[in-house]
Amino acid sequence: MKKELIMVGPPASGKGTQTKKLAEITGLKHVDTGSMLREAVASESEAGKIAKSFMDKGQLVPVDIVARIIKERLSKDDCKNGFILDGFPRSLEQAEILDKILKEIDENNEVDLKVIYFDIPVDNLVDRIVNRRSCPNCGAIFNIKTMKLKNDGKCDNCNTELVQRADDNETTAKSRFNTYFEQTAPLIDLYNKRGILVKIKALGTIEEVFENLKVVI
Ligand code: AMP
Repeated sequence: MKKELIMVGPPASGKGTQTKKLAEITGLKHVDTGSMLREAVASESEAGKIAKSFMDKGQLVPVDIVARIIKERLSKDDCKNGFILDGFPRSLEQAEILDKILKEIDENNEVDLKVIYFDIPVDNLVDRIVNRRSCPNCGAIFNIKTMKLKNDGKCDNCNTELVQRADDNETTAKSRFNTYFEQTAPLIDLYNKRGILVKIKALGTIEEVFENLKVVI
């Protein structure tokens, strides 16, 4: 049966890190709207220019841009056997759009759809964000405060110089949390009512959280 997972949780709750690990062992495609939008920004496309102005403020990028990107992505062959959505949907409006897209692409498939909610206290997450660095080459994510890197400032996997995301600063991070509580958190109730929400304890080491995740998928 085709497996579709949707990761929901506050910024820096570990969705990206856990999804990468899960994609590796399951072969499900990791579909991450944040990364796709950052690619659009880097390419300086029209959509990228518009997206940047919202991302810099910690706000949601207009829904038509995101809907187009996600529809194209989920319709590709490599998503045929299933995928993990990380960062989409992020509002009730986007959830409705996703319903329509899935209806279209899954016309003839039997699907196991689950929403994983990363349950974590938000107190220390801004700190996680400002200490987060990522590898522009392999996409690995590190916390320079809590992890001991083999080479300072370099990726442990491929030794590339790590970078900090433009929106991983304190001001934008705070705004991203407001956006999350106002627009994204209502999804928890929506999917709970549909009976497809699974909550995992997302506080702990990467390995501990991964164990919690593997049990429920
Ligand atoms: P993320 O990498 O998931 O933290 O996303 C970074 C930024 O990209 C967010 O703060 C939003 O500005 C934008 N973004 C990512 N996914 C979406 C989405 N589904 N809808 C609107 N904006 C998004």
